[in-house]
Amino acid sequence: MIISMKLHATPQEVEEVCKQVEAFGYKVHSIQGEERVVIGVVGLGDVTACLESVEAMLQVENVVRISAPYKFVSKEFRAARTLIRVDGKEIGGREFAVMAGPCSVESEEQILRAAEGVARAGAKFLRGGAFKPRTSPYEFQGLEREGLKLLQKAKRATGLAIVTEVMSDRDVAVVAEHADIMQVGARNMQNFVLLKALGKCGRPVLLKRGLSSTVKELLMSAEYVVAHGNSEVCLCERGIRTFETATRNTCDICAVPVLNEMTHLPVIVDPSHATGKRSLVPALCRAAVAIGADGLLVEVHPAPEKAFSDGAQSLNIAQFEKMMQDLQPYLRLWQEARKTEAAELASAAKP
Ligand code: PEP
Ligand code: MN
Repeated sequence: MIISMKLHATPQEVEEVCKQVEAFGYKVHSIQGEERVVIGVVGLGDVTACLESVEAMLQVENVVRISAPYKFVSKEFRAARTLIRVDGKEIGGREFAVMAGPCSVESEEQILRAAEGVARAGAKFLRGGAFKPRTSPYEFQGLEREGLKLLQKAKRATGLAIVTEVMSDRDVAVVAEHADIMQVGARNMQNFVLLKALGKCGRPVLLKRGLSSTVKELLMSAEYVVAHGNSEVCLCERGIRTFETATRNTCDICAVPVLNEMTHLPVIVDPSHATGKRSLVPALCRAAVAIGADGLLVEVHPAPEKAFSDGAQSLNIAQFEKMMQDLQPYLRLWQEARKTEAAELASAAKP
């Protein structure tokens, strides 16, 4: 059950509602949204009695009964898409969000060349890992704080918003100081300590689907971040483990419409980690646009053959430019579809 308080409910009024709910044996979790407080109610008890009693309280706007275990991120909680505004750009709105850049930040020259190249081709976000989760301890682990500074430099040079990974709850503050969007890698999707810390980080979160995680587990992880105070989460399909070996992972492209039915959160597709192979990236980008994703996270390197990580799946700048051009007709259709959807929602909302 989710309780929305009236617009200017006081902390004391919120407290009264919480006490009333707790008297029915439930646990409460309140979140201060931009406009109002919403209270999530969990536990076992007499839902109908509790709902009716709370509905009757003057300070309560409305109460919605929700059956999914991921309450705040479910479509039942909110039908309209979550729009994330960051640094003058949008995710989940009328603009398709393209995030591109190298797997790892390697040097000033590399990140600046990558940033200038992807910005010229039309990306609005620069991706690049400063903290790298590598399978082997002997592989390049990232430039860490130095990498964060280089990302800031690239931002100042190009105006791109920065997407970068945070691997540990200990690094949340320093990454939040330099990043516009906090990426949670596939291997950390169920790092609950990190997810809780990101609830308080003050930045949107890009949550990647775990290598062997179900859609429901992805939503439960997003719920952690939202339940701890941060409603700006976007989800990322980056391929999952299957028996197939022709690609690095298997892109569950179907997860995009599935998620669109289950949640109001934006969904991004990462075609690079999904395939592991640069030749397959453009086709998967077209598929992502066509199937209704909100954006792309693509690995682009000025010299992929020299990349410290994931060179084989990285496009060079020219390949990325061409891909972006080839994507234009698909993006026009995508924009039309979004306009139609907005018009349908508006007319459905009219009495
Ligand atoms: C990455 O984005 O470079 C990365 C490490 O991705 P994932 O966590 O999806 O493997
Ligand atoms: Mn990578």
